[in-house]
Amino acid sequence: MRVINPATEEEIVTVDPGDPDTAVFQARQAFESWRKVAPGDRARLLRRFASVVDAHIDQLAQIEITNTGKPVGNARWEATNVRDLLDYYSGAPERLCGRQIPVVGGWDVTFHEPLGVVAVIVPWNFPMPIAAWGFAPALAAGNTVVIKPAELTPLTALRIGELALEAGLPEGVLNVVTGPGSRVGRRLVTHPDVRKVCFTGSVEVGREIMALCAGDLTRVTLELGGKSATVLFADADLEKAAAALPGAVFDNAGQDCCARSRLLVERGVHDEFLSLLKPYVTGFTEMGPLISHQHRAHVASFVDDPLFQGSVPGDKGYWYPPTVLKAERGDRHWNEEIFGPVLSVMPFDTEEQAVEFANDTPYGLSGSVWTRDVGRALRVSREIQTGVLSVNSHSSVRYWTPFGGVKQSGLGRELGPDAPLSFTDTKNIFISEE
Ligand code: NDP
Repeated sequence: MRVINPATEEEIVTVDPGDPDTAVFQARQAFESWRKVAPGDRARLLRRFASVVDAHIDQLAQIEITNTGKPVGNARWEATNVRDLLDYYSGAPERLCGRQIPVVGGWDVTFHEPLGVVAVIVPWNFPMPIAAWGFAPALAAGNTVVIKPAELTPLTALRIGELALEAGLPEGVLNVVTGPGSRVGRRLVTHPDVRKVCFTGSVEVGREIMALCAGDLTRVTLELGGKSATVLFADADLEKAAAALPGAVFDNAGQDCCARSRLLVERGVHDEFLSLLKPYVTGFTEMGPLISHQHRAHVASFVDDPLFQGSVPGDKGYWYPPTVLKAERGDRHWNEEIFGPVLSVMPFDTEEQAVEFANDTPYGLSGSVWTRDVGRALRVSREIQTGVLSVNSHSSVRYWTPFGGVKQSGLGRELGPDAPLSFTDTKNIFISEE
């Protein structure tokens, strides 16, 4: 597999595809002892893993910059996110408490048993965080893990696998297997020893994975696409919203499932808001290239007659400028996930219409509501069909709060305090007093 730097179009390295059966075998072997490691010791090992990652933030960030072209700030944040996830979930092993439930004639107690081998199938847009969203809580709950990074971006996952060993995690507890999704990913999903699949990627592949998981009733979490909307009411702080919006659409060059790629603006402030927005869009530079030549062609296929556009740094690399398009409801760019730095804008007249337009999509991941009216903020936030939403802000993902989608954006939740539980099955035991 040739790994390319998308900022320069140069080959960085070649990586041999791995063997998924060997990775699952190692994980299965390691599970027997990992699940029995005392909770305090498992916690200590995860804290040590976090420290080793912390000592390699610059190295991991540099690898990611070379593999994806991300700006240094983004790449560093992504590496620190891995450290923070390990730190946060290192608090989980001693706190995975079951319950004692009152019954007649004995005692009833529950235990949160680890599932076994968990496969984490990772896309190319956030290679480090998305891997850690799966492996950190899964390991904390006593599972062993096989990570399958995307073919385009395998390098940080391979390094994180080495760092886990450096930190003292036993061999086989955290495994990384590279290779194409159609072969290696598919084998992990259908392997009888894999008990849960965490998948992040496209809806098409997510649907296929869910169907394959049905074979062995393998548990599955799906984090899929999005077509999230910003709903901006006339009473909002327009200047603040204009300054914040480009980051919410163009960060990671729009290759973000939470990207607010649709903007609904109350008609009375539509033109004023676009004038405020324009300099922030044309001046937006904190952005890398798209991941591949093919992906740039896909993004470009949506763009015709932009309202305004930013610029790109040069001829080499798969760059695409921040772009704003006028939209009507039937437009392809309004309806399909572009996964690039493209914002589609449409006016609305009433609150009901804004909600109707925002919900008129098969996706339901994220979104934002901008208004100074707290009643309306709450009303509209509850009505918009998404898994996460922010008011007067564009934030969406914090490792200590739950994240995931509704409708075709996914199934299940990741992150937050409950994530380790989703890597366990509850066992109920009755003990007779006789
Ligand atoms: P995919 O869904 O194809 O890939 C995501 C991951 O799944 C990769 O590791 C891939 O491996 C693996 N994979 C692919 N096919 C299978 C399979 N049959 N069984 C198991 N694993 C498989 O996403 P793409 O990279 O093709 O991106 C296409 C579109 O998907 C984007 O334009 C965007 O719209 C959406 N997407 C959404 C993401 C999100 O964050 N929700 C992330 C990425 C993409 P490999 O790449 O090695 O072949």
